[in-house]
Amino acid sequence: MLCEEIMKISTCLCSLGCALLSLILAPTAAWSADREFRAGAFAQPISPTKFPAPVNGNMKGAFATSIHDPMHARCLALHDGKTEIVFCIVDACAIPRDVCDRTRELASQQTGIPADNILISATHTHSAAALTPLFQSAPDPDFVDALPERLAAGIARAHAQLEPAEIGWGQGSDPSQVFNRRWLVKPGEAYENPFGGKTDRARMNPGYQNPTVSRSFGRVDPAVAVLAVRSAADKRPLALFANYSLHYVGGWPAISADYFAAFAAEIGQRLHADDGRYANKPAFVGAMSNGTSGDINNVNFGGPPPGPRQPGEQIQVVARSVAEAALQAYGKIQFKSHVPLDVLAGELELEVRKPSADELQQARDLLEKTPKDSDGQYGSMPAIYARETVLLEAYPERVSVKLQVLRIGDLSVAAIPSEVFVDVGLDLKKRTPFAQHFTISLANGYNGYLPTAEHHQYGGYETWRARSSYLEVDAAAKITLRLIELLNALEKRKPQ
Ligand SMILES: [Zn+2]
Repeated sequence: MLCEEIMKISTCLCSLGCALLSLILAPTAAWSADREFRAGAFAQPISPTKFPAPVNGNMKGAFATSIHDPMHARCLALHDGKTEIVFCIVDACAIPRDVCDRTRELASQQTGIPADNILISATHTHSAAALTPLFQSAPDPDFVDALPERLAAGIARAHAQLEPAEIGWGQGSDPSQVFNRRWLVKPGEAYENPFGGKTDRARMNPGYQNPTVSRSFGRVDPAVAVLAVRSAADKRPLALFANYSLHYVGGWPAISADYFAAFAAEIGQRLHADDGRYANKPAFVGAMSNGTSGDINNVNFGGPPPGPRQPGEQIQVVARSVAEAALQAYGKIQFKSHVPLDVLAGELELEVRKPSADELQQARDLLEKTPKDSDGQYGSMPAIYARETVLLEAYPERVSVKLQVLRIGDLSVAAIPSEVFVDVGLDLKKRTPFAQHFTISLANGYNGYLPTAEHHQYGGYETWRARSSYLEVDAAAKITLRLIELLNALEKRKPQ
């Protein structure tokens, strides 16, 4: 009897114990499943197939008749068990808002990832198939129409390749490849801008050792931010997405993804990411997103012109130099098995700098009396900008600009649909509540250059009203304020 009682009690106790244990373990299991960090990456080919292919990036519409190196959309999906975010870095000069929105919609339908959790940006290569009308270049509508499906397929593939992963980030520095391209005009050396004015005190790309300018505006951001994931199982590198504030390099008259793709290949080689050991595994994906380079290029106008170069030579020089800085940062990364992910997005209404009725009439008059070149395009800057003035008449009085901030552990990323000046990027790095920050420009749409109000006062190419520069003078200050609000809200928000 007694022993039966004892047996009964111990059975109850052990089932109680088991119940308790499963209660303790259950959340952990749920916690660990919920907390399993995964990553997947894929480089989606997106090169044009129809030639000649219109190319963005010049004052005159240019066409590529061949491919030097292919265009890709480099996609990285990150999942913290609850939240999934995606980076989609596209080899393009600029991507219009409607293409980004359509892509996000399709990708969200295919993967279940909330559309606002997807960041799509252009690298700003100036030798890729055009996606939006810029100056006298106009895209092939068939190429543009087909792109959202292709980009969404790349995002879906990265999502499908999610695997248990570890993540880390860091920052290197390469001051050798970035130069502020805006120079201060010496008093008495005013030059005429395309609107006939002589009040610009800044001159972009003035030429080597130009005696009419005194100094460059100087500020650059040499930071090379690195975000890397590796397989939790075999530590193989899955992807390395970097960010550097350099406009582009250029140099190929054919389709080319510029130094952004050369960097991706270079960093993959240096990480031995695709050597034979991982033959049957998804390929490593390297990527370079464009930081805040609205006024930054790869040309030192303070020095003498460089000697003769082979086409594409400088692209390799920059890719190797920046890859070295990225590799050093990679070497110091503390990989983590789990970090919280989070996203906040918002819209900001901004005014458009519309031409006045007089300016419109002047522009029409000028175009009327300006013959086009034999290629059917305008060759003079006044005519090119007069054409922009007329085209801006069709623009709305205000535009809604999409802003997005992402959290990856204590790293924050801001996405801005503009060619953002370096001062804006450096200011965001100073004011973010997170430990590390980088900004991706030309993201989620294209609203032209984003100079600070101070730079608007100095004038220069990036401020000249056109479809590549039409946001109100205070746009940079308003965008920065809104992003800081979003970053603070993100920081305070407990990750889901
Ligand atoms: Zn640009």
